[in-house]
Amino acid sequence: MRSDVAIVGAGVIGWSIAAHLLRIKPNLRVEVLDALPSFGMGSTGKAAGGVRAQFGTEINVDLSLYSIMRFEELQEKTDIGFRQYGYLFVATSDETDSYLDLITPMQRQRGVPVERLTRQQVAELAPYLNTQDVVSGSFSRADGYLDPYAVCQAFEREARALGALARYGKSIDALPGATTVVIAAGHWSASVGQFLDLELPVSPEKHQLAMTESAPGLPGRLPMVVDLATSFHFRKEGERLLIGYNDPLGDPNESTEAFDFGFLERMAEVGLHRLPLLENVGFDTKKCWAGFYAETPDHHAIIDRIGDVVVCTGFGGHGIMHSPAAGQAAAELVLYGHSSTFDLSPLRLARFAEEDLTHEPMVI
Ligand SMILES: Cc1cc2nc3c(=O)[nH]c(=O)nc-3n(C[C@H](O)[C@H](O)[C@H](O)COP(=O)(O)OP(=O)(O)OC[C@H]3O[C@@H](n4cnc5c(N)ncnc54)[C@H](O)[C@@H]3O)c2cc1C
Repeated sequence: MRSDVAIVGAGVIGWSIAAHLLRIKPNLRVEVLDALPSFGMGSTGKAAGGVRAQFGTEINVDLSLYSIMRFEELQEKTDIGFRQYGYLFVATSDETDSYLDLITPMQRQRGVPVERLTRQQVAELAPYLNTQDVVSGSFSRADGYLDPYAVCQAFEREARALGALARYGKSIDALPGATTVVIAAGHWSASVGQFLDLELPVSPEKHQLAMTESAPGLPGRLPMVVDLATSFHFRKEGERLLIGYNDPLGDPNESTEAFDFGFLERMAEVGLHRLPLLENVGFDTKKCWAGFYAETPDHHAIIDRIGDVVVCTGFGGHGIMHSPAAGQAAAELVLYGHSSTFDLSPLRLARFAEEDLTHEPMVI
């Protein structure tokens, strides 16, 4: 029987859309198609799991606030590893300090419990950091991190229990006849768009993460810490640290997922300055990996409906944290042609042709 909705992409976004569609309309015929043999095998399985509402644009703050509420509810029902230990952004220049001054009132006004911290307060909150060159910080206790795969699995289980069909190992050529097609193909979305005669400015950008060996001496409730000057960031994973860094010598256009071990040395140089205890901690080289962000020119997602196609992609480094909001928004576009939960105008596809872009500067 012909499906009502065929979703291309069985990552966190595709399965979130399926679950949200079936929550609203339980008898809908929904299929989720993926070229890979199971769900969550694209960028979803490569993410660090950071969740924050500290963004520089209203739409990204709104997507996060909605999603954080949903993650809190989900964590009550099933363990998605959601730890709201906060996100601490550290500014080391007048420029980044002024930028935090500029955006935190907007964040607060929209409901983010964000605090501006002096250098002294940063040192008190995070005594393990070298704060000699720190000017100030910003901290939201509602932010944190979770297990990306567990979130995808929770959406997949819910959607399948409500009747969604999964078709794995099937590429876009096997797209079933459906009333509406949803493109949720992550960093592959441009080629899926091409197949459906849509030009999508989404391209892959390589990012890497490294896991340390056990790192004693850190508090249990360690926030995600982000050094705004260098993008060096870390959070706890058990007794270890999961560390990210936008390596200026790495090639973001490189197309292989192979981990570049030169990254460790370059990142350690930057990281040792901010987190001196790294001096005594080794890396677990079997647990270092690379993956791809699905990037757009303005670092915002595309959530839009064009005829019978709904596009929900281009989430950069934010697709896990925005997955509940994206699922709700895309489900509304499928069912009603517009979203009543979000003002999606900043995320429309036409913004690129109209050159009406708003850039998100708080990207790591
Ligand atoms: C190193 C790294 C760290 C990250 N850290 C974070 C973080 O801390 N917080 C956060 O929120 N996000 C983070 N992200 C981003 C996050 O992983 C993505 O935004 C998110 O996973 C996007 O989900 P998706 O479902 O859109 O894409 P994907 O998970 O990539 O899923 C897309 C699916 O589409 C399928 N597909 C593609 N083409 C076709 C086709 N032609 N036919 C059929 N199927 C197709 C693929 O097989 C894939 O399974 C990180 C990403 C990386 C790489």
